[in-house]
Amino acid sequence: MKETLRLQYDALVIGGGIAGLQSALDLADQDFKVAVIEKDATIGGKMIRLSKVFPTLDCASCITTPKMAAAAHHDNIDLFTYCEVNSLDRSQGRLKASITQKPRYVDPDKCIGCRQCEYQCPVYVPDQEQGGFNLRKAVYIPFSNAIPQLALIDVEHCALCGKCAKVCPTEAIDYFQQPEDFVIEAKTAVLATGFKLTPMDQKKEYGQGQIPNVISSLQMERLLAPHGPYQRVIRPSDGKEPDSIAYVQCAGSRDLSLGISYCSRVCCMYAIKQAMLLSGALPLADITIYYMDIRAFGKGYEQFFQNAKAMGIEFVKAKVGRIEQGENHNVLLRIEEQEGDGRVVRREHDLVVLSLGMVPDWNPAGICPVGTGDDAFIKCVRPKLAPTLTEMEGVFVAGVAAGPKDIVDTIAEAGAAAMEASNYLNSSASGRAA
Ligand SMILES: Cc1cc2nc3c(=O)[nH]c(=O)nc-3n(C[C@H](O)[C@H](O)[C@H](O)COP(=O)(O)OP(=O)(O)OC[C@H]3O[C@@H](n4cnc5c(N)ncnc54)[C@H](O)[C@@H]3O)c2cc1C
Ligand code: SF4
Ligand code: SF4
Repeated sequence: MKETLRLQYDALVIGGGIAGLQSALDLADQDFKVAVIEKDATIGGKMIRLSKVFPTLDCASCITTPKMAAAAHHDNIDLFTYCEVNSLDRSQGRLKASITQKPRYVDPDKCIGCRQCEYQCPVYVPDQEQGGFNLRKAVYIPFSNAIPQLALIDVEHCALCGKCAKVCPTEAIDYFQQPEDFVIEAKTAVLATGFKLTPMDQKKEYGQGQIPNVISSLQMERLLAPHGPYQRVIRPSDGKEPDSIAYVQCAGSRDLSLGISYCSRVCCMYAIKQAMLLSGALPLADITIYYMDIRAFGKGYEQFFQNAKAMGIEFVKAKVGRIEQGENHNVLLRIEEQEGDGRVVRREHDLVVLSLGMVPDWNPAGICPVGTGDDAFIKCVRPKLAPTLTEMEGVFVAGVAAGPKDIVDTIAEAGAAAMEASNYLNSSASGRAA
């Protein structure tokens, strides 16, 4: 029987988004050996998929790509992408993570990222990296600045035609690749597993994701991104440049009917950011934000909100009760005004964006003994004194894994988690990993 590979590190970071990368870099810079486990085929998390970021309107990939590259090239960091964590437990003073490397059906030691396979593959499938608006091939590299630049085959859609194997110059295609289990041992860990958006189809009053011109906020990020699906903002159903765009706030947050009572904290700000970017991209379009409260909590955020108003973005304090398909591909909103006499009115827009909330991407139940709060995010045991401490000894949490937050707070928390992990390593009796 083949022996399971066991790798030794000082620290294990689970999640290769901005939080995980920041924690890994901070630990690696202190000369600790770090393993980063990412379940996707590339590191970068949500941030690499954004257009620009509030409140500075810096290009998201201009900030994220250097961090991704720094982690990939750091002598003290090893990246394990496309991997599943099956368990994380502690025995005899060490953490033991059992991991499965999912098959890419491409040999990572041979693939040179040349994309010849992608060009030849005859199968097209919706590209979720581009909000589902574009098509990609069944064999693909997730996006141009993905790290690592390795192809993978989407077996669900592959027609097994053999064309990719035929053109691959390095014979990297391996249709028979199997999952491989290995173990990582470390002394400390940072959980940085981030978030998913609340599902589009959760709310039947909002058309359950079936109205073509009702899109998610992440889809709008792609429409606004320089390397987006169309390189301009058009609505999906008919390619028309929208004249009137609406944002529906708290679509998946502060909604007891969905069992989500909390505020996702970033949706007000990202809606304002997108509205400002849209005013630049479509100067003649009317943009309306339907909101219950605007929560512009961070430094400079209130000014950002005031700037948006000054730019002519309409803010309507109202609860959107229902979203329906209108005529000519338009979308009808039934709204209850929250100011004045509280009228219920109908408004029509070309394109509607749901400001979806955040839910945890990972549930540790059955994998490791860290608890979660009522909101299902990872519980911090001493939120005021040591906000990154979890219920498991030597295991810390960073970023949205602990609860909704923006990038500024995520990076600050990731630094704090790295500091706690470093203190833990320095105080633990055994030495560093070789
Ligand atoms: C539409 C939208 C726009 C936004 N715009 C802004 C903005 O302009 N400015 C701003 O400050 N913030 C913005 N945000 C918030 C920002 O995206 C988050 O603050 C940030 O991405 C959090 O980073 P993270 O690393 O904690 O989580 P994530 O980015 O979610 O990264 C988590 C990573 O962990 C991986 N992972 C999850 N589970 C596992 C597992 N079990 N094993 C291994 N890996 C795992 C995931 O695949 C992912 O790569 C926006 C959010 C949205 C939805
Ligand atoms: S699998 Fe082969 S053809 Fe495809 S990117 Fe890798 S090296 Fe190029
Ligand atoms: S074998 Fe599959 S991935 Fe390769 S070219 Fe054919 S359909 Fe595409």
